[in-house]
Amino acid sequence: MRRILVPDFLLDSHGAVPNVGVTLEDGRIVEVGPVTEGERLPGRALAPGFVNDHSHAFQRGLRGRVERRNSDHIHDDFWTWRERMYELSESLDPDSMQRTAERCYREMLAAGYTSVTEFHYVHHKADGTHYDDPNALAKAVAEAAENAGIRLLLLPTAYARGGIPRFRDASPEAFLERVDTLREWAVDHALVEIGVAAHSMRAVPRDWLGRLAEYARLNDMPLHIHADEQLREIEECEKEYGMRPIKLLAETGFLGFRTTVVHATHADEDELNLLSEHNSGVCVCPTTEGNLGDGFLPAAGILEREIKLSVGSDQHARLDPFEELRELETNARRLAGRRNILVAEGETSPTPYLLRVGWQRDRLEPGDPADFVEIDLTHPEVSGVEPEYLISALVFGAGRDVVAASWINGIRAYRRDA
Ligand SMILES: [Zn+2]
Repeated sequence: MRRILVPDFLLDSHGAVPNVGVTLEDGRIVEVGPVTEGERLPGRALAPGFVNDHSHAFQRGLRGRVERRNSDHIHDDFWTWRERMYELSESLDPDSMQRTAERCYREMLAAGYTSVTEFHYVHHKADGTHYDDPNALAKAVAEAAENAGIRLLLLPTAYARGGIPRFRDASPEAFLERVDTLREWAVDHALVEIGVAAHSMRAVPRDWLGRLAEYARLNDMPLHIHADEQLREIEECEKEYGMRPIKLLAETGFLGFRTTVVHATHADEDELNLLSEHNSGVCVCPTTEGNLGDGFLPAAGILEREIKLSVGSDQHARLDPFEELRELETNARRLAGRRNILVAEGETSPTPYLLRVGWQRDRLEPGDPADFVEIDLTHPEVSGVEPEYLISALVFGAGRDVVAASWINGIRAYRRDA
């Protein structure tokens, strides 16, 4: 069925355009341009949906529970937080995994995320033995996404050592065999794409990294890994391999144009150069990195080298893409002691850069999946803002409450006033 939506404005990374219609057919955008007829959406602007490029959906279950010190942890940091996260991971089964993931994904849609990358590493029963279906927990996550109606890039994540038994596989071959089976299953699931990930340098040894990279390259799949989030992790890597984490990724062939390094908080100049040389991306998770006390992204160094950047909500202490983008820029300002840091060449404001990071595109275009959000222009946070300032007002002055609806594949998967 063909539909033409006519909002008050269409938003792209450079502004708000009036009198434009978006024509949808079979879940895709087929036309964007001036129209006189169609379904009017008064008081609404349409914008691309936000991409949440790093999620551990089950950690939504930690919300509020980890915001106090344990009496035995005078020093509370990432590592003590991790113990609480392990306790939660111990308790999951396929049903509770699906419930918590579905709650998380529905909240994402309400916040304006239309697509999520799930970094999935809870694979087996608590004692480490496999479920009858060894992909039971991965499928629970995928089904949660399908029920909610959000687009999913699912990354089964290799874990070889440390952590708890249910994270781990015995060999890269055993792990990749499960990935093969999951990929076959996903063929009939329109909203689900499968990529692959390694958890981190501390959880995955050198020979596994090379093997995973080879698999991802052969099958043309996205490849993700956590790196440089914590100083201790860098010291451990230097001790074991005599080099920093991103250098090790380069040495093992892990870096490529489909590779995303999650965090890169403490990446040094050489590591940023390697990311740039290999055309790899970085996913920053500002609200999580702030919550865990990780540190600040070297944002100016990333901009300077034109390294691809995306954002993720990671542990979901908060789900709000506007807040992630705002923190990205304001953290960079605090570090630099000045304003307007993430400004791309030829532009005068960080807004276009930040929106491109959030949307992973510039604008809604014919041929793209019909994934977008409706922005409520009557909301108090944007009321009275002149159209020429609208996109900056959204990034710097608004939050998820301005999202009135989220559409995926031409279907309104979330509607605030329903
Ligand atoms: Zn993570």
